[in-house]
Amino acid sequence: MGASPEKINSVTSIGIDVGLNSCVTLSNGEQFDSPIYYRKSERSLAVQQKRLSKKKKGSSNRLIQKLKVVKVHRKIRNQRLDFNHKLSRALVDRFDWIVFEDLSIMNMVKDHHLAKSIHDVAWGQLIQMAKSKAEKAGNFVELVNPFNTSQECSGCGNIVRKGPSVRIHKCPECGLELDRDVNAAINILNRCTVGTTGRACGVMDVGLGYEVGSHSF
Ligand SMILES: [Zn+2]
Repeated sequence: MGASPEKINSVTSIGIDVGLNSCVTLSNGEQFDSPIYYRKSERSLAVQQKRLSKKKKGSSNRLIQKLKVVKVHRKIRNQRLDFNHKLSRALVDRFDWIVFEDLSIMNMVKDHHLAKSIHDVAWGQLIQMAKSKAEKAGNFVELVNPFNTSQECSGCGNIVRKGPSVRIHKCPECGLELDRDVNAAINILNRCTVGTTGRACGVMDVGLGYEVGSHSF
């Protein structure tokens, strides 16, 4: 009666941490970097926007600068669309249950509105694409509470305070030491509702150390 353990185990689930650095980290330790040209465009947008803010209102120089900003915006939009399409396709092809943080209740950066808005839009799009592809494939995308996902120890639940520049999660309670984004991705996965057996799938064995694989499209 009921599903056999093998059956339950065959549900593959994955937690996904989206970063401010255009990088996506999976709970199994894999990382997907956005292409270098995308990051270049993001930097260029910041520069062009700063220049725009210094131009006199109503001047022709301001208009010219405004067009430059629009052009970089468009480029970023297209590059992001391409990246998110490929990444969401890869995720849905590989995993039955995909878990993200709920961006609508996430406050990733304070006092850095430009970066925040860019990344919220980018990751919001990735999640939307993953959702629609998952629906078609009969898979699931779940959004979980983002509170403390980067501070909580995925090994023991202890809160380990660290600023954004600290890249390694080191827990004094249980001794767990791993990449901060991988730790966050595991916490995200652990908050999903798929069930404990499913949860274990797609999570690396943290006791054996880990290797972060890097992928680019
Ligand atoms: Zn711990």
